[in-house]
Amino acid sequence: ARGGDDIEVRGLTRAFGDIRAVDGVDFTVTGGLLTGFVGGNGAGKTTTMRMIMGVLSPTAGEVRWRGRPVTAIDRREFGYMPEERGLYPDQAVLDQLVYLGRLRGLTASAAKASVTEHLERLGLGERAKERVQKLSLGNQQRVQIIAALMGRPQALVLDEPFSGLDPAAVDNMVDLLREHTSRGVPVLFSSHQLDLVERLCERLVVLARGKVVAAGTSDELRSTSVVRHRLVLSG
Ligand code: ATP
Repeated sequence: ARGGDDIEVRGLTRAFGDIRAVDGVDFTVTGGLLTGFVGGNGAGKTTTMRMIMGVLSPTAGEVRWRGRPVTAIDRREFGYMPEERGLYPDQAVLDQLVYLGRLRGLTASAAKASVTEHLERLGLGERAKERVQKLSLGNQQRVQIIAALMGRPQALVLDEPFSGLDPAAVDNMVDLLREHTSRGVPVLFSSHQLDLVERLCERLVVLARGKVVAAGTSDELRSTSVVRHRLVLSG
């Protein structure tokens, strides 16, 4: 992978009727860094991520990648974990993930090898043949993140990947994400949990009522008005 594969969000805006769910948002997801996207309920994180992925069109502003406006073809190389989890409940875990890997351009045997390794690493090695609906929500979430990581994605956009997981499971997933940042991939994930994001990420972007209220390294945020951001998050 090339370095410097930043995702640049510039003036991104989305109105629903009179409400500006996302209002002139600017930030950069730097290649090779883990960036946490933090905000309370309704702050606009999901709407922003949908626009990055092209699922929703912006009212104004743009998303750039590798220095130019991102295209639909570029986005085929992005791994995305949407808020609506979108797994087929009746299909076996392995079959479903292999299928998704094939869509990402892997051969059947490469997809199977990759899926098997990911399942092992997330503690699901024994569950490969089970139908998705038999899994707990936490395990379905693990399956969903594997789907996003298949086939050497060139960027990762993950909506609440850690919600409801215990700390050991979070660390496990972060180890997987680090393998992608270490080859230069920009990784953006959303969370309600400021503490978690401060611990995990090189960069944070804090969103409140559709606007970026703070952005920078954890140290920078800690040394500034983090108390205010905590209030914003809880309010
Ligand atoms: P959460 O963490 O609860 O998912 P969020 O930060 O992801 O919150 P969004 O889901 O992006 O926030 O929602 C931002 C605002 O936009 C909310 O007020 C929401 O009600 C509104 N909104 C989002 N999608 C739509 C839609 N399709 N139509 C109307 N309003 C919408």
